[in-house]
Amino acid sequence: MQLEQLIALDREIVWHPYSAIGADLPIYAVESAQGVRLRLCDGRELIDGMSSWWCAIHGYNHPKMNAALQRQMASMSHVMFGGLTHQPAVELAETLVAITPEPLQSVFFADSGSVSVEVAMKMAIQYWHAKGKREKQHFLALRRGYHGDTFGAMSVCDPITGMHSLFSETLTQQFFVESPACHFGKPCTAKDIAPLADSLKQNHEKIAALILEPIVQGAGGMRFYSADYLRQARALCDQYGVLLILDEIATGFGRTGKLFACEHAGISPDILCLGKSLTGGYMTLAATLASREISGTISQGDPGLFMHGPTFMANPLACSAALASLQLLHESPWQKNIARLQQGLEQGLAPCRHFKHVAEVRVLGAIGVVEMKESVDMKDIQPRFVEAGVWARPFGKLVYLMPPFVMESEDLEILTKAVVEVVNSISPS
Ligand SMILES: *Cc1c(COP(=O)(O)O)cnc(C)c1O
Repeated sequence: MQLEQLIALDREIVWHPYSAIGADLPIYAVESAQGVRLRLCDGRELIDGMSSWWCAIHGYNHPKMNAALQRQMASMSHVMFGGLTHQPAVELAETLVAITPEPLQSVFFADSGSVSVEVAMKMAIQYWHAKGKREKQHFLALRRGYHGDTFGAMSVCDPITGMHSLFSETLTQQFFVESPACHFGKPCTAKDIAPLADSLKQNHEKIAALILEPIVQGAGGMRFYSADYLRQARALCDQYGVLLILDEIATGFGRTGKLFACEHAGISPDILCLGKSLTGGYMTLAATLASREISGTISQGDPGLFMHGPTFMANPLACSAALASLQLLHESPWQKNIARLQQGLEQGLAPCRHFKHVAEVRVLGAIGVVEMKESVDMKDIQPRFVEAGVWARPFGKLVYLMPPFVMESEDLEILTKAVVEVVNSISPS
């Protein structure tokens, strides 16, 4: 297929994430990807600043990842998980239990992040049901949170950016509190925690769990908040008999400088959602981990089963990719890489602080965010990045980078320079 034909057909019949059919927005065809570079069909090469939305932490086309998948494919690509099991699933579950906080002992494999959130919510409801607390069917969530696009997950996303009004008749009403105002590295005052404390005090009898993204609120605004807030949230959940679900789908596996973001606060959840970089960006796979208390109570309660079971549960190829990715992470000096990327992002993005149309520049681990005062025009800004030889995908007021962990400092410098130049070039005169 000719490139023009491919693009035209794409525009005509293919949906993209949060897109419109027939939209007049730039779209780029990728021919291949290698290391930290995407190669477009027109021959241009772009340095990847997105890790394909948090996922491709080791870069693309990694020989060890490729070999692991080829090995697995030679024995079996898939087999149903009802009544059958296999080495990649059991080995991955054992690894996840070993590297996550200690109370998490049972693993449910799901096919995407959103599904792992659905599973976490169902686990929380089934847990309380088994304990005879059938009125605990609601959830408490933070404004500006993002937990996925399926209905359950959507019900705990920010009501405004999650467009709850559009689905108001279908969507379950949940409880929300303000997004934490206390920044990362700062204490959390009584005033900061008050909305959460008040809502729990008032509504705890109806609330199965508090769900939140630890430390970093991702797609809802790329905000970094105080570890102290998270610690206090954990204590409040214990005080009021509410479970804590941590959604580490974006933050898990090193991105914030800790293997899991909850380690910044030294706390552990009752239920943990993992996804995105779990397979190093090779396959779609997610996991919901629960404490033995939760899995045991569900299994011994009525109806004695956990009511969920995807067709592609624990897909062997995906589990093998995850095992290979975790092995690569374990063998790599990832803490050093993240520290180096953090420093490079700090230095490289600092000039944006002087621009009048920039509200804030913030960096945590391998996440660099330039928050503008006004929303950026995608149609205008996307081609500017491509012309500068980099791949960045701003949304709303946010121009942000989350490069693969393996990115060399020289490439990171090209990336941050491009951001500074493009952000400068869209300066309103
Ligand atoms: C991406 C994301 C999800 C949803 O994951 P999908 O794989 O896109 O379904 C949920 N929670 C957080 C924090 C995410 O970043």
